Amino acid sequence: MRREHDVIIVGAGLASLAAAARLYECGVTDIGIYADSFGGTPYIAAINFVLPENPYGDSVKQYAKDMLHAGYDIGNRELVEEMAANSLNGYALLRRWGVEFAKNEDGTARLRHVSGHTWPRSLCCTTELIGVEIVKKLTDELSQKQIPVHTGYECLHVLTKDGHACGITVKNPDGNIENIYSPVVIAGWGGVGNLFGTSTYPGDIRGNTLAIAKEAGADLIDIEFLEYEPMVVMSPPGAVGEPCPTAMLGEGAYLKNSEGERFMLRVRPQGEAGSPKTLINRQIWKEVDAGKGSEHGGVWVDLRHIDREILKAYPWFFNRLMDNGVDPNRELVEVGPMAHSFSGGIMVDRHYESKVKGFYAIGEACGGIHGGCRCAGNAASQAAVSGLLCAQAAAMAVGSSDHRDPAEEDLPAVYAENKAVFEAFVPEARELAVKALGIYRHGDTLMQAKTRLEEMLGKEEMGQDTKAAQTVASIHLMVCAALRREESRGTHMRLDFPESRKEFEREFSI
Ligand SMILES: Cc1cc2nc3c(=O)[nH]c(=O)nc-3n(C[C@H](O)[C@H](O)[C@H](O)COP(=O)(O)OP(=O)(O)OC[C@H]3O[C@@H](n4cnc5c(N)ncnc54)[C@H](O)[C@@H]3O)c2cc1C
Repeated sequence: MRREHDVIIVGAGLASLAAAARLYECGVTDIGIYADSFGGTPYIAAINFVLPENPYGDSVKQYAKDMLHAGYDIGNRELVEEMAANSLNGYALLRRWGVEFAKNEDGTARLRHVSGHTWPRSLCCTTELIGVEIVKKLTDELSQKQIPVHTGYECLHVLTKDGHACGITVKNPDGNIENIYSPVVIAGWGGVGNLFGTSTYPGDIRGNTLAIAKEAGADLIDIEFLEYEPMVVMSPPGAVGEPCPTAMLGEGAYLKNSEGERFMLRVRPQGEAGSPKTLINRQIWKEVDAGKGSEHGGVWVDLRHIDREILKAYPWFFNRLMDNGVDPNRELVEVGPMAHSFSGGIMVDRHYESKVKGFYAIGEACGGIHGGCRCAGNAASQAAVSGLLCAQAAAMAVGSSDHRDPAEEDLPAVYAENKAVFEAFVPEARELAVKALGIYRHGDTLMQAKTRLEEMLGKEEMGQDTKAAQTVASIHLMVCAALRREESRGTHMRLDFPESRKEFEREFSI
């Protein structure tokens, strides 16, 4: 049976759930949410909002300024300012749908100071990850309103006709390939983590979505900017990949090198709290480069002096360490940078619509807000606010007189699968991504990767596995973007251009 909706949302993370909630509030009820699983959202610990009750006198203006500054001033000012201005609306939306944030004893919101922000403005949940609370509350409420979240669906293509979105091709939970139709398709499919070897991302964020967007005709922006989470646990094996929240630095944690020195103080005499993630990443790499790193290529975070109750207020982190035999009040914890989130994505206008009419992108799927580096906790805030703003625009489109009907004729559902072809190309392409797209980048390495990826894409067998072709093409797109970006910004450090080299040498005192 042919399926069609007024709006299709691909994804069930925070951006998608916020969009669905706001669409419902705006009167749109025929919403098809199709997702593999819940993406990075259940792992969200921190989410920032500018609240009127903030005792530090926080403001929308300061929030926008922090975002642009942390992003090396290349974020899209209009999108950033719109996001800051709608911060309170994003918070109110989550509250209306039942999300509870941690409170102080006097009933005010408990605010944490996370990296890149002038003031404490980060909200959390102290009994579990706030992302778990968000997924639980929004999916329950949506399903009570007859808007179920269909999980186990993998989007393979976005369908277009005459430059307008008209639906998606999916692999459904039975393994069948089918088309689902709608003139409004919202991509809430998250970032690109699994294009890389080790990352903090869950398995449902494959990253071939960059190529899916490009095939549909969308433009991409800032896709050379991958975020590295600076303080991810590197040992013991059972806790590897668990991010130590940068909010810990705001709670008084220190970063130390193998000589026990608080090396961040060399560049931040005021202390570690509030350091931008890029700075922490660079300084950690600098210590490792100077032979003052840890066994696994990181440094140590010292939490021993922090009150146990405070550590326990980050239960996912505290428990993961304790379950693996590390008591943070007794031992230093080995941490270092790992690929963690993506600042680029689909280029959108202020309604979060791409160049393709009816094809929108929200959350980590879209780019332009975070610029060269994002403030901690802002991926979540951007997911919530972009979902809200996009939903308002999409609801207007659904209600307008020129709203299209879904494509009348059934388009062919095209997809090829060949595991041997996938295995022949994708692991090598991922290795190239790790080598060429780390924090330190060199034109020669990028060019070699580009040439090899193009060789792969030119092979006839590639046509036998769509996902392999999309994965290799996505890495190729990132490599080309990194080659074009000749200056160093954020975690993109180009060593082969005189100005970039100078910047690097100045910073690293070579
Ligand atoms: C371990 C970890 C901790 C994090 N902590 C924080 C934090 O504390 N604060 C913060 O701001 N950010 C944090 N982030 C980043 C944050 O989780 C993401 O940026 C955020 O979840 C983005 O929301 P989203 O809805 O855009 O995407 P996601 O939450 O990633 O959701 C993407 C959705 O798309 C679906 N999907 C993907 N591809 C397809 C496909 N082809 N077909 C169908 N469905 C698909 C997924 O299944 C999922 O439902 C963290 C990330 C990780 C991995």
